[in-house]
Amino acid sequence: MSRTKDSSPSKKEKRARDPKDPNLRCKAYKFRLCPTKKQVGKLEWMLRRCKELYNAALQERRDAYRMCGVSVSYTMQAEQLPAIKKLREEYQDLHSQVLQDVLRRLDKAFQAFFRRVMNGEEPGYPRYKNGDRYHSITYPQGGFELLHGNRLHLSKIGHIKIKLHRAMKGKVKTCTIKREGEQWYAIVTCEYLHDAALTFHPSEKEVGVDLGVKVFAMLSTGEAIENPRHLREEENTIAAAHRTIHRHKKGSHRRHRAKKALARVYRKVRNRRRDFQHKTSRKLVEQYQVIVFEDLSIKNLTATPKPKQDEETGKYLPNGAAAKAGLNKSILDAGWGGFVRLCASKAEEAGGTVVKVAPYFTTQVCSSCGVVVQKDLSVRWHSCPDCGAELDRDHNAARNILHRYHQNKQIGAGSVPQKPVSLRGEEPIL
Ligand SMILES: [Zn+2]
Repeated sequence: MSRTKDSSPSKKEKRARDPKDPNLRCKAYKFRLCPTKKQVGKLEWMLRRCKELYNAALQERRDAYRMCGVSVSYTMQAEQLPAIKKLREEYQDLHSQVLQDVLRRLDKAFQAFFRRVMNGEEPGYPRYKNGDRYHSITYPQGGFELLHGNRLHLSKIGHIKIKLHRAMKGKVKTCTIKREGEQWYAIVTCEYLHDAALTFHPSEKEVGVDLGVKVFAMLSTGEAIENPRHLREEENTIAAAHRTIHRHKKGSHRRHRAKKALARVYRKVRNRRRDFQHKTSRKLVEQYQVIVFEDLSIKNLTATPKPKQDEETGKYLPNGAAAKAGLNKSILDAGWGGFVRLCASKAEEAGGTVVKVAPYFTTQVCSSCGVVVQKDLSVRWHSCPDCGAELDRDHNAARNILHRYHQNKQIGAGSVPQKPVSLRGEEPIL
């Protein structure tokens, strides 16, 4: 992998010349690390150095642009690294690729910023990392090695105890050391070739899934997957932990301790949610060959409930828009996207597929006869005046989602989001 600085082709050229195998997959494994106190000190020290470098590089880009209108690139900054190491000797204690990765992260932040500017959005300028808001370092190619099953060797640090609780598949590519509260993790990414021809799914069953707020998921079979009960409890614990922090003076020992406690709560919440999602997606993938979801990226753009007016007074009544737009919703949204991704990756390995269909009218249309039955968010039951179908609102939606997949298959649209081909009755306002 070593290449000389000037004669080597740039990454872009390289990628264009030998395109990646379309069957190449990347998988990340997260392992718990058990560093000694001394090693924790060293890791913390490294994180602080990386943060400093990040901020300095950001400052440089900012100043260069403000004062001379020059935009500084990643390469320009990476070329300065040897000089920096000479000037600030402590940086010799960091692996050079780790430092390059810091600059690459900054570059990514800027790329994302420019992309949003180009798209006419209102992006925030890349921010300085203050306090201890720098949580991970990445060894992008080398400088790390897994030894004897329970040791991770890191360049400039030494052997750290690691719990390799599962076997990895493929070729190890990168290693990221991450701090989460008081715990440390190694995230190892591996590349492997996925051979679709070799994986079969034992079943031919298909299912439509409506992800919701009331229940976590409703299947087109009528089976409901409930939200885990602990979610609500956890929200209360988080709120309480936040209040504790704000009771204590800034910079005080107690506030610091309260912050640590909050981080613990968040970790617990994250772990429980992830656990729930992994188990649920695994169950779905084992049972069904094709799992159909709504395309959430479109759904969030379209679905705003209609304003509801009181007929006598003309005042506006609650229509569920606040609930839809609230914090809970956004948390759930994030959860949904992650859940769909989990299903997709598990399905692929099991020989199944995840399909996304257009979300239009899935709640409004009757899944038995196709007539539009308008209802706002508060109406939880679908009863069709035309064919007399009676079923739960979400169950109706899940059936429509599966229908849409079949429709798309007929017209050969695959999983490309399509507006419904035909609709009987008036067009509902979404
Ligand atoms: Zn009907």
